[in-house]
Amino acid sequence: TEACLAAIDKADALGAFVHKTPDVAMDQAKSADDRIKAGGAPDLCGIPLGIKDLFCTKGVPSQAASAILNGFKPEYESTVTSQLFDAGSVMLGKLNMDEFAMGSSNETSTYGNAINPWRRGNDDTALTPGGSSGGSASAVAADLCLGATGTDTGGSIRQPAAFTGITGIKPTYGRCSRWGIVAFASSLDQAGPMTKDVRDAAIMLEAMCGHDPKDSTSADLAVPNFEAMLTGDIKGKTIGIPREYRMDGMPDEIEALWAEGRKMLEDAGAVIKDISLPHTKYALPAYYVIAPAEASSNLARYDGVRYGHRAKLAQGDGITEMYEKTRAEGFGPEVQRRVMVGTYVLSAGFYDAYYNRARKVRTLIKKDFEDVFAQGVDAILTPATPSSAFELGKEHTDPVEMYLNDVFTVTVNLAGLPGISVPAGLDKQGLPLGLQLIGRPWEEGDLLNTAYALE
Ligand code: GLN
Repeated sequence: TEACLAAIDKADALGAFVHKTPDVAMDQAKSADDRIKAGGAPDLCGIPLGIKDLFCTKGVPSQAASAILNGFKPEYESTVTSQLFDAGSVMLGKLNMDEFAMGSSNETSTYGNAINPWRRGNDDTALTPGGSSGGSASAVAADLCLGATGTDTGGSIRQPAAFTGITGIKPTYGRCSRWGIVAFASSLDQAGPMTKDVRDAAIMLEAMCGHDPKDSTSADLAVPNFEAMLTGDIKGKTIGIPREYRMDGMPDEIEALWAEGRKMLEDAGAVIKDISLPHTKYALPAYYVIAPAEASSNLARYDGVRYGHRAKLAQGDGITEMYEKTRAEGFGPEVQRRVMVGTYVLSAGFYDAYYNRARKVRTLIKKDFEDVFAQGVDAILTPATPSSAFELGKEHTDPVEMYLNDVFTVTVNLAGLPGISVPAGLDKQGLPLGLQLIGRPWEEGDLLNTAYALE
């Protein structure tokens, strides 16, 4: 813990930590020491972690990287962080992210963006760590912590993991309690670990999972010992290669990396099968209707009364002006865009044409996966992202261009499936690339084991 705290203090330029909690960390580390001395402590005991700012941590600022939550210190602890702390892990501080987890580059954060510790060869241009869990990815990749929590609504664990050469898993929807995690799109949001390797991910995920009566969508299922399932034996497993993920204009290097991953699994004894997920091309548009719709409803609570920021009012301003001014000041441009898109697609005249249609598409996407699993496919291999990390500070004027980053990841959230991104080598510029494996619902143990064979 002391070594991590010292490293964090030297790494302010990365912008990964937005709030450091050395006192909390040292207290937790001391208790962990006592537990370890007493014997029988869990594997996570004494392990220093970073916590994404989307998780409510009791008495510690939790702002979802938004100005509208300025000064907000929750009275309660999220279920996931409280389970991690019960297992003896240590909180080093809160990690940077896109505002309300909306973004793919960490650039929508009210704190300014986190930076990727990787560079292109000798070129010193700052690159994005990805988003929305950009601070988590940057902190793990730069060895500021041993692991970090992330959340993934459309790729926010897997894309930053791929951009920084680390491992990140989004479990099946319902595996981790969402209680105490600031809500973005409630039917898609899931927490998960971001770690150096698959074994660490297995250990951390096990502590994060489990049924929670405080979240009605949390599954009442036993949590397996994921680490014990890491045998590396994938003989006879069927790995699907979906033809729809071969996108026009995809860099050759990504195509080559995908082929290499396929070969590694084949050499380990897996059976490779070409498969079709025919509704893939509708996933991105469906996601960018459903996610903003749910966000517009979830973000209605930031009204200047219940949390954080309230605008200064002029003589004669009433409650409407108070809402309008508070929300105009407190929400950044991307969040405002999502609230407007979401409100529009839910409005009486457009509900059927957009929201309901997107929900139908979502069902078809889910069915595509069910069909291939019914044909005996155990896991699906795809690239994690359509490119390696891109430059920060470039004018990302076209929001749709940013949304295209999520093309390989959003299907997994729409279908509620587990997905993992594992480091898969470097591109010509010397930047990390990731491969994604998608698994059957509730079979994170198997998925982690297949990922382990790819390491
Ligand atoms: N980049 C996607 C978005 O902006 C996904 C974000 C996430 O998974 N939280 O919505």
